[in-house]
Amino acid sequence: MAENLDNMKNMDDNKNNEYLRYWEIAKYKMIPHFAIWKEIINEGPRVITKGDGVYLWDVNNNKYIDGMSILWVVNVGHNRKEIIEAMYEQLNKISYVSLFGGYYHEKALELSELLTNILGMEAVFFSNSGSEAIETAIKLAKQYHYLKGNPNKYKIIGRWHSYHGVTYGALSLSGIRQNRIFFEPLVPGFLHFEVPYCYRCPFNSRYPECNLRCADDLERLIEYEGAKTIAAVIVEPIMSALGSVYAPDIKEYYNRIYKVCKENDILLIFDEVNNGFGRTGKLFAYEHTGIKPDMFVFGKGITSGYAPLGATVVSKEIAEVFKDWMFMHGYTFGGHPASAAAAIANINIIINEKLYENAHNMGIYLKERLEELKEFDIVGDVRGIGLHYSIEYVSDKKTKKPISSKFWVAAKIEKELLKNGVYLARASVDRTYIAPPLIINKDQIDFIMNALKKSIYKVQQEFFSFKK
Ligand code: PLP
Repeated sequence: MAENLDNMKNMDDNKNNEYLRYWEIAKYKMIPHFAIWKEIINEGPRVITKGDGVYLWDVNNNKYIDGMSILWVVNVGHNRKEIIEAMYEQLNKISYVSLFGGYYHEKALELSELLTNILGMEAVFFSNSGSEAIETAIKLAKQYHYLKGNPNKYKIIGRWHSYHGVTYGALSLSGIRQNRIFFEPLVPGFLHFEVPYCYRCPFNSRYPECNLRCADDLERLIEYEGAKTIAAVIVEPIMSALGSVYAPDIKEYYNRIYKVCKENDILLIFDEVNNGFGRTGKLFAYEHTGIKPDMFVFGKGITSGYAPLGATVVSKEIAEVFKDWMFMHGYTFGGHPASAAAAIANINIIINEKLYENAHNMGIYLKERLEELKEFDIVGDVRGIGLHYSIEYVSDKKTKKPISSKFWVAAKIEKELLKNGVYLARASVDRTYIAPPLIINKDQIDFIMNALKKSIYKVQQEFFSFKK
């Protein structure tokens, strides 16, 4: 990046060389995740080297506030010694045990007990990521119905515009067109219903006159497809990729979803990969919904990213069915000892420090401050809950006309934010996500807000000259 080159002028020669060496490697040797390689080749990689609390440093020693917990992940903040020590202690005892074939290790068992206790659920299956935990949920749902004598109950329902991961099952469940096109045909038997996206209502209606038609859309789909063919409905209580979207009456919405699932022997599964572990201002997002699903899916914040881990947590009814039959599924590294140790230490921090309460309180302040952004012509909407917020940009506020993807507004703002000392990565085409570590305070939110205002202002100017 040009600004990185500028910064480098002030650095010692070693740093210069170090950065240039990494740039060379990034140019040729590593395929980036969800990024345009050519841009990195031309502008240089952003190499993050250090973290502490809510702060990050890059290889050129630039300091940033981490406004995204990197990727909705680092809920407790960076460099928490309790977690690092718990992992170290475990690795010193035994670094790896496979959970295949009836073998266990202490930390996987202790974590299962902890998770089932705090959720009031029955049993846990471990994996390595959110995508894998979603795959597990899909397979558990299908095998559950098969074992109960309903092999025709195999279809899985998700929502349009949802993101549940990138492996084939998770991708087929997801409803983001751009993510799917290169990989079609996807897995058969995945269906989608409409989203509770009031800013752009799929039914062109308004709450409360709409009477939550988006919830009833599930019933319509089930009737059309035949309830006898459907295994499960998988939804994220607060939708992340679409930009912190949830129904205006979240309890009534989920009450209807729950009811239609129960009446039709369909499992309801909550994807809390992003939502879980304090992010939305409660320990778990299901607490906002007034209902409890049959299965939970976790990743990301379960370890705050200190090690990879996914977990799928099931109800007693599901667990009972699997006592007589082998679940035909497993991952070599699922529930790795270091990851399980990290998760236990991480969850204890979140509970003991009541970080979900700080997320709730700071979320109220963040919302108040984010509302100020509505003064900008390109800011169409700001919405969210807890420390899970999003800004949606538009080219025309009155008509809500989306900004052309050619302008790539959010990525431009992301780059400006870096110059202003804020890391808010994972920009979509027209959305900025804000999800700082749950330990954030008001001064740090103010810092993010100042940077946001400066950055949006600059890019807005560019946008209007681009439009001309
Ligand atoms: N589910 C949700 C809601 C997510 O946001 C993500 C990742 O962003 C996933 C699942 C997939 O998780 P992973 O990237 O760890 O595979």
